Amino acid sequence: GPHVESTKEIGAVKLLKTAGAYWRGDENNKMLTRIYGTAFPTKEEVKEYLKKLEMAEKRNHRVLGKQLKLFALIPEIGQGLPVWLPRGYKMRRILENYMIELEEKYGYVHILTPHINKDELFKISGHLDFYKDSMYAPIKVEDETYYLKPMNCPAAMMVYKLEPKSYRDLPLKMGELGTVYRYEKSGELQGLQRVRGFTQNDAHIFCTQQQLEDEIGEIMDLLDIFYKDVGFDKYKFVLALSDTENNPDKYAGEPEKWKTAEDTLRKVLKDRKVEFEEIPGDAAFYGPKIDVLAVNVFGKEDAISTIQLDFNLPAKFDIKYIDSNGEEQEPFVIHRALSGSFERFFAFLIEHHGGDFPLWLAPEQVRIIPISENHNEYADEVYSILKDAKIRVNIDDRSKSMQSRIRDAEKMKIPYIVVVGDKEIETETVSVRSRLNKELGLMKNQEFIDYLKEEIRTKGNK
Ligand SMILES: [Zn+2]
Repeated sequence: GPHVESTKEIGAVKLLKTAGAYWRGDENNKMLTRIYGTAFPTKEEVKEYLKKLEMAEKRNHRVLGKQLKLFALIPEIGQGLPVWLPRGYKMRRILENYMIELEEKYGYVHILTPHINKDELFKISGHLDFYKDSMYAPIKVEDETYYLKPMNCPAAMMVYKLEPKSYRDLPLKMGELGTVYRYEKSGELQGLQRVRGFTQNDAHIFCTQQQLEDEIGEIMDLLDIFYKDVGFDKYKFVLALSDTENNPDKYAGEPEKWKTAEDTLRKVLKDRKVEFEEIPGDAAFYGPKIDVLAVNVFGKEDAISTIQLDFNLPAKFDIKYIDSNGEEQEPFVIHRALSGSFERFFAFLIEHHGGDFPLWLAPEQVRIIPISENHNEYADEVYSILKDAKIRVNIDDRSKSMQSRIRDAEKMKIPYIVVVGDKEIETETVSVRSRLNKELGLMKNQEFIDYLKEEIRTKGNK
């Protein structure tokens, strides 16, 4: 934080925690106690801050990931290598299917390339020159050398090259749910946010210069749909540009292409009237990009998606298409990941919703609680009806009190809790309560299914 001229400017102090520390950081010295605290001009501001801190802690994705049994980090399996548990993996599969379906609707095709690629590929791509520090040690197989892939791009370039392309083949939108491995120092690993292996909702778009604007625009459309469907309501854009004045030799590719690309990215953002910030000099050496930052409930920003132009790989891989005059041209290549990595995206998703996921994503949508043993048979009947309607449902008929079973369901943040007893059996209904503690009262089974289906269909966006 800022420094103050004098301690009288400090209005209120709150000590937060203590930790051990060696004098001058040397473990041969005596252990001292380090005291952490925070200060604000007023007591009200301290209160406000502490409230936010408490809320953030309750929503911390590592805490909720454990409570909701979504993922686990198991030391024996490896640091920074999260394991998706049944509930988390269920959500991930729903999201993966959603992504593929959405992309197919927009004309994407999908490929899947191996986790390890031969060294030759990364020699061509240049990764062994400029990205080696983020790659793991080589793997020797007979007399060949392989690497865990740090990016999906090189293999995608080879797939493009399998067959000659003409302008009629473009735009080619090639998606991949590709798993990559990147070295992160153990001290920097953090839950699902910073990991060593992750899967991207990746795609490479090959297009002509004339198609560039439409393609960028379409990616922005997809972003809008995706963000809305997962319940992210606040996001902003950063346009990372070159800085040829101060760094003329930094950038790969022809200056005219850079200009076209930068002008196009800016135009798309302007035409859509979205708020964006331009940062000259922030572009990678191989192309300008748009970063999309989602803003969570605490105002914390996280880069979720990127739209990255590339003037390097097409040249390295000698990627071409034949234009309408029969001439060879280099296509524009756009890398884009709507959800970035699933892992990071999940960290954000969990914290943003505090575990109260939109119904279409919730791993368990309904939990049925029979009041007593006498109601188990009817509970089974309701279970079958919901299951047949493809609702994700479970029964809790453990011999615990009804109240404690309801509390368990609430703790697991199940969107709908259904209680069945004599009254419900008699009227062939269910007693529905939403997680927002809203009593929806008695509903006929079919009425309840229709209600759920509508919320799932609209993804909660009415
Ligand atoms: Zn790529």
